[in-house]
Amino acid sequence: MAAGFTLALYPWTYNSQFAEDGSWKEQFVEKPHKSPGEEAAMNAAAHKELMGSRNSFPELPMVNYTSQYGIGCFEGLKAFPQKDGSLKLFRPDLNALRFRESMEGLKMPGFPEEKFLAAVREIVKRNENLGFRPEYQNEWEKDNFLHANSIYIRPFSWTEGGIGLNLSSHPYVVIITTPVGSYFDPDASSKAITTDRVRATDHGTGWIKCNANYVIPTLAKKEAMAQGYMEAIFLDYKEQKYIEEGSSCNAFFLLKDGSLVTPALENRILNGINRRSVMQLAKDEGVKVEERRISIDEVLSEAVECFVTGTAAGVSYIESVTHQGKTAVFNNGKIGEFTANMLHTLKGIQYGAEKDRHGWMFEV
Ligand SMILES: *Cc1c(COP(=O)(O)O)cnc(C)c1O
Repeated sequence: MAAGFTLALYPWTYNSQFAEDGSWKEQFVEKPHKSPGEEAAMNAAAHKELMGSRNSFPELPMVNYTSQYGIGCFEGLKAFPQKDGSLKLFRPDLNALRFRESMEGLKMPGFPEEKFLAAVREIVKRNENLGFRPEYQNEWEKDNFLHANSIYIRPFSWTEGGIGLNLSSHPYVVIITTPVGSYFDPDASSKAITTDRVRATDHGTGWIKCNANYVIPTLAKKEAMAQGYMEAIFLDYKEQKYIEEGSSCNAFFLLKDGSLVTPALENRILNGINRRSVMQLAKDEGVKVEERRISIDEVLSEAVECFVTGTAAGVSYIESVTHQGKTAVFNNGKIGEFTANMLHTLKGIQYGAEKDRHGWMFEV
C-alpha cells in the first residue's frame, strides 16, 4: 500500500445525533459495496464512483456550523491486525475521553465515552465481517512494522443545520474507517523547518482536537514542503522562541545529556496519546523525561535526536531542523538509536510483537 491516507472508506459507517430528549440516536449505515476482492479488481473509474457513493452522507445537513464556521472536532485512532488474526485498538479509551473533552470545549454536548468505545468496536467488527480489514503479514516483522498496515478510525462531530453564527446543541457524531499504510513515506526526506505562522495562542483552542486548528498548520506544512521539507515546526506565539509542535504531531528531542524533552502542553499543545505513550516507554527504559519549554536555540545546540509522534505519524524521526538559515542535523540524518527503539517498541506493542505491559491494547 502506498504511504499515507487513502479516501477509500470501508462500507459500514456510524452516525448518531444528540436528540431533543437528551439521548443519542444511534444508527449503523451500510454503504454500497462489493466484496473486497471485487472492489480491488474494479477499474479506476468504477472504483472512484463507488468510493464517491461511500463518501456520501445524505442524512447529514451540508450547511451547518461545521461546514461554515469550523465548529467541529475529531479523533484519529487505529485498529492493528495481530498475529493471531484478531484486531486490537490502541488506547481507544483516551481517544474517547479526548473526544468528549473536545466537544465540550466547543460548548456542545459531549459524546459519552462508553458509546464511543462501543461504536468504534462495532463498526470495525461489521466491516471485518464483510472482509474489510488488513491481514497480518509475517514479512512486516522484518522491518519492525515500518511498512505494516492498519485500520484508521476517524470519529468526528458535525453540527445540526444552521447558517447564523451559533453553537451546536444537537451535534452528530459520525465514525468512518479506512485502510492505512505508513503516513510519512519512510524513504522520503524528513527535514523540518520552523514556521513563523502561529498555530495556537493562550485562551485559544490549541488543546482541542478541532477542525479550526488545522487551517494554519496545513498552510505551514505545504509551505515547508514547497521548500523541500517534510514538516513545519511551530514556535510559541509570544516570543517565537520555544518549540510548540509539528503540523499535526508532537515533538520530542533527545539531548546530549541523555534526557528526553517534549514541550509542556500549556493549554495550547495537543495532548497526544502517542506523546503520552512515548513518555511512558522512555521512562520504562530509565530515561529522564521532561515536559518543559525548549527553545529552538537549545534544540540547535543540544539535541542529538528529534522525532514527532501522532497516530498518523507513529514515531517519525526528523533528520534535521532548520531555523532562520541555521540547520541542526541529527545523527548524520539517519534515524537515531533512541528514536528507533521507541518506534520499534511502540509498533511492537501495537502489532502484538512486544509485551503490552501497560494494558494499552483493547480487543475489538
Ligand atoms: C492529533 C494530534 C496530535 C497527535 O495526537 P495522537 O493522539 O498522538 O494521535 C498532535 N498534534 C495535533 C495538533 C493533533 O491534532
